[in-house]
Order: sequence, then C-alpha cells, then structure tokens
Amino acid sequence: MNSKNSRWAAPALSLAFAALMLSPAVDGAQPRAMPSPSKPRAKPSAVKPPPTPPPMLEVPEATRLLVIAPHPDDDVLGAGGLMQRVKATGGTVRVVYLTDGDGYPEGVKEEDHIETPTATDYLGYGKQRRREAHAALVRLGLPGAFQTFLGFPDGGLCRLTRAYWSERRGAYRSPYTRLNRPPRSEMLVPATQYRGEDLSQELALVIGDFKPTMIAVPRREDQHADHCAAWYFLNDSLNDVRRVHPEFTTDEINYIVHFNTWPFEDDGPRLEPPPGLRGGASGWMRLPLTPAETRNKRQALRRFTTQMHVMDWFLDGFARSNEVFSRPKPFRVILPSRRSPCCDQ
Ligand SMILES: [Zn+2]
Repeated sequence: MNSKNSRWAAPALSLAFAALMLSPAVDGAQPRAMPSPSKPRAKPSAVKPPPTPPPMLEVPEATRLLVIAPHPDDDVLGAGGLMQRVKATGGTVRVVYLTDGDGYPEGVKEEDHIETPTATDYLGYGKQRRREAHAALVRLGLPGAFQTFLGFPDGGLCRLTRAYWSERRGAYRSPYTRLNRPPRSEMLVPATQYRGEDLSQELALVIGDFKPTMIAVPRREDQHADHCAAWYFLNDSLNDVRRVHPEFTTDEINYIVHFNTWPFEDDGPRLEPPPGLRGGASGWMRLPLTPAETRNKRQALRRFTTQMHVMDWFLDGFARSNEVFSRPKPFRVILPSRRSPCCDQ
C-alpha cells in the first residue's frame, strides 16, 4: 500500500455511478418483448431458485504460491490468509516486493518527526518497512518463507512501463532516495537499473527459478499506479518465461487494495468485493478464513507499524473473515506500452 497516488479518499462521483449501475432497472421503462407463440411460456414458479453461492478459491495441496507485492504490506493485505492456507496444506510461499515502500513523504514525516526528509531518511524508512515485512510473515507462521526485495522505485513503477523502458535513455531516478538502481546486494541480474525491461527480467528470473503454480498480483484496475504497473510487469515477465519454458503454466489470481473508498468500515465481518468492479474472467472468488487465520492476519498487519501510524483503519479493513480474488480476462501485454497505462490511474 501507500496512500499517495491512490484515490481511495475521494470520489463520490464514482460511488454514485456505481450505485446507479447497481440499481435495479425500473419496471416498464423498457419496451417488453412479446412472447413468441411458438415457444412454450415458462411455467410461473412461486419458489425462487436459491442464489448461486459465490465461487470459492480452491487451494490445491502443495501449491507453490508467489505473491507479488508492490510495497511491503500489500502481500498481507491481499493474501495474508491465502499464504497461511498454502502453508497449512503443504505448500510453499515466496513473496517478491517490487519496492521498499520508501517513497512516502507523509509516512516518513510522521515516523521521523521531520518536516523535510532527506534521501537518507527515505532509505531508512524503506529499511524499516523491510523489517516489518519480515516480522509480518513470521507472525503469519511463515518464518521460512523466501522474501525477495527487488528495490525498485516506490511511486515510479508506472513510468518504467513506457518512458524508462530500455537503455535508449537514462534510467529513472527516484525523487525520494535519489537512486537510479537497486542496491547491488539486491540485484538478481547484474547491472540492473531502474528500467522496465530490467524489472521484467528480474521477475522472470524469480518465476523461472521458483516455478510457482499460483501467482497472486494486484489487479490491473487497482487505482494505485504502482499496483497497476505490478500487473503489467508480471504479465510481461510471464511472456518472457514462456519463451524459455514453453511448457510453463501457472494460475494467476488477482487481489485488490485500492479502489475508491473500499473497503468500507461498516461492512461487517465479511470482505465484499469493491462495488462497480467486476470479477474478471472468473467472477469474484472468496477464500473463507478460519478465525485463527483472520486473527493472525490482523496481528501480522500490526507488524507494519509505520503504516499503522498513518492509516490503521485502512489496514484493519482487510482483516476480515474472507479474502477476495479474481482471475484476469485474457489480455495481451506488450511492453513498453505506447501510452502509460497506469500513470493516469
Ligand atoms: Zn501498495
């Protein structure tokens, strides 16, 4: 997560539109089709069929789950329950953090009580968020989970899908940390810089190495630009992986963190999907959590103390009795894109 760039604080207009879309059609407002004399009329029935229960997300035994987190905490917000379930059913979990979440001025100011943070302050904040990410997985009962921090620029991922794609121009430089490459100790591919093709290459390396049977990544429609870009980068890197391993298949599922003012505080114990957002190719799928899984998730979210200090209510909104996922519709990702698909989110 990260509040900047996201729009979950405002748009009443979108909500009004969603409400309009969800309103039942006014009876008689549309011309009715006349029943065809050649077709038998349906027998009127006094008993309504029971509503179709929402599909569940199946978690096969021995799942190899890769969670793509744009920032430390997105993994637990979106899939903290799923990660526990995979572990409990004999599977393996690996989390890749695309950024350290260090480009968050409001968070740094609040945490360090300083008015004008320096590059050193931002870097320190990122290190703290990494420690929190580790503590959170320990709290989820996943102390041995493989955590990979790629160290790409927080708040800059969408720029890497187009303008800062290749060596044809200089690498992107973070306005916060002033870095234009990940720390050398974190580079999976030598000489990696803040360029889109470098990020895709590193992700492809992780996927080729881990061979996940399931990958959880934010939805393309997530209104935080880094989250949207994460979807594009994952799917671009999957193209690369399949070129090398044509037999590779995986189950891509999507989670969502930022969508208007969702999740709503007064929704009760269940996490309903965001209104106005359809459930992709699969429809929304629920993963019901046990009380212990929900409790662990809530406690794990509290390990992100830097984020709890600025938006505890938002994090708590995800600690419910279920999680929601969807599978994406077929979509051909070609990067670099001709326009920046996420920067205007
Ligand atoms: Zn995030």
